[in-house]
Amino acid sequence: MRKFQIILLHCLVITLFACSKNTSSDVVDKVNENHDILKREFLTNDKKTKFVVHNEPKLSKEKMDKITDEIHSSYQQILKYSNGYEWEDRINIYLKAQNLTSYAQKGEIYLYNTRGSDYPLTHELTHLLLGYGNPKFEMNADYGILTQEGFGVYIEEMLYPERKVFPNYGIDVHKVMKYLLENNRNIPIFDLVNKSVRHKYLGESNYPEMWKAYVHAGSFIKYLFENYKRDLVINIYNSPDFAKEFETVFDQKLQTVEENWINYILTEIQPLNSEERAALLYP
Ligand SMILES: [Zn+2]
Repeated sequence: MRKFQIILLHCLVITLFACSKNTSSDVVDKVNENHDILKREFLTNDKKTKFVVHNEPKLSKEKMDKITDEIHSSYQQILKYSNGYEWEDRINIYLKAQNLTSYAQKGEIYLYNTRGSDYPLTHELTHLLLGYGNPKFEMNADYGILTQEGFGVYIEEMLYPERKVFPNYGIDVHKVMKYLLENNRNIPIFDLVNKSVRHKYLGESNYPEMWKAYVHAGSFIKYLFENYKRDLVINIYNSPDFAKEFETVFDQKLQTVEENWINYILTEIQPLNSEERAALLYP
């Protein structure tokens, strides 16, 4: 109860600071006496979603404008890949200064490393706008991670290819995949499409395996978008019974398409140059 009162008091104090409305882009900023933006709220152009951006590192107005623009364009792009998931109409984004791993929960993104420009904003937004796992239990890996992380890596790379974010850090994800294949570090796609993925590839103590899994997911989904009709790929997003659904939608076995993808990466993709190789997370 006491904790609740303190929280309430804290909220009241914050509310006493002036609010300024920037009419040009319809953002509402809550600022302190030094004119630092503490919180920014705005509606998306389609008026369907309210974003609340909490500016813990007190980033400048210019930086907040840049992040606001990135949210608008990511939102528009990501929804072109939606297969009908009903996302939250209010999304909180907590900006952080530390260099830790960003993550998403239902209606919330904890975005680290925001003082620089290498933060996975688009990637995390894909999880919230497209859905992730069994909706009964909110965000989870019950349906695997292949499409869920694959779409995140793919759309992030498409919109911000220069951004150095997990897992490919600004390098073409196909090139990183080729490196893994040539070093016999590939994993079967089937391992990434169901619940068991959690034990094998998502342990916090096992980041190299997680890294490999995300590279596979990103490269495989990119390959699908490069070679098949976009609607087909969107159709299989977050499927509970992925391999079966894949076969129905693509009229091919998952394993056959996996073999074609590996063959394409090995024969058509250029190897990493020495600079790119030096930049790999787990070479
Ligand atoms: Zn992710």
